[in-house]
Formats: sequence, structure tokens, C-alpha cells
Amino acid sequence: MEKIIYNFGTSFVNNYVYFHNDKMILIDTGYENDYDHFKKMMEKAGFTLLMIDYVFITHSHSDHVGFLKRLLEVNKKALIISSLEAKERMKTGQNQKAFYVGFLSSFLGKLNKSRISYPSIDDDKRFIPYTEQNKELLKDMLGGDIIETTGHTKDSLSLLLTDKKCL
Ligand SMILES: [Zn+2]
Repeated sequence: MEKIIYNFGTSFVNNYVYFHNDKMILIDTGYENDYDHFKKMMEKAGFTLLMIDYVFITHSHSDHVGFLKRLLEVNKKALIISSLEAKERMKTGQNQKAFYVGFLSSFLGKLNKSRISYPSIDDDKRFIPYTEQNKELLKDMLGGDIIETTGHTKDSLSLLLTDKKCL
């Protein structure tokens, strides 16, 4: 059976939510100020932020981890799954230049600082990094295979769900 995958994002960013083994999994958070929108969308669907068990982070850009810090403050149990490199980068709260949008983002950055930085996350206890040893565990937890997709940034991961949806 196909999984139901919700998208509680905005027209700019996706915030996918799905269930696996009765755990609620969120893929990426939006920009810092997308928090209220996401919360509202969750509640409209009958969910709360407290229900989230795992947050899978594809990479540490402000449009993917923007309200992660705030979410972790509200939801004390949620664990973050990301690459080791993304975990370290999130301690800085600064976007790493993407390979192909480097010029564009530095241009946009001059226009709007919140687009290139975000509240930093520095709490190793909240992370399950994607490593060789954690591979099988994470596959079980997420119901899919994590694939390293270093095309966009060096810290990028993708998730291929067992029903063949690639997120
Ligand atoms: Zn990005």
C-alpha cells in the first residue's frame, strides 16, 4: 500500500510528513518564519507538533532547517537525522554555499539576511547522524533508504521510501 505523504510547506518549500511504524516523520523544516504556517497546517490535518518523532534533514540550508530549533524547543522528544556534516554545519547557523546557487544566494543574501542564516542547533543528543553503522537502523526507522546526493551541497542526503517515492 502506498504511504500517505502530507505536504505542510509553503509555495516555496516542502515540508513532507508521513508515518512509518507508528512514528511521525517530518522531512525538513522551512524558513524560520514558516513556523506558524507549518503549525497551522499540521493542526488543520488533526496533528500537533508534539507528535513528530523524527526530523529528516536533507541539508543544512535556511529553507530546510529554518524553524528546526524552535520545533525542538517545543517538541522535546523529536530526534534529527542528518549527515554528519550537516549536523556540524547547523552549529553555525549559516548557509554553506550551494555549488550551483552560490552566486545567486550571495546576491539574495545581500537583499535579505534571514535567507542565508537561521537559528543554530548545537545539541548532539538530539541527532542520529547518517553513518555506515546507523545505516540499517535508519532504514528501519524511516521506512526507506537514505542516499547521498552531494550535487546540491556536500552535506546533502535524499530519502527513497520503500514505495519508491524519492524525497
Ligand atoms: Zn539548499
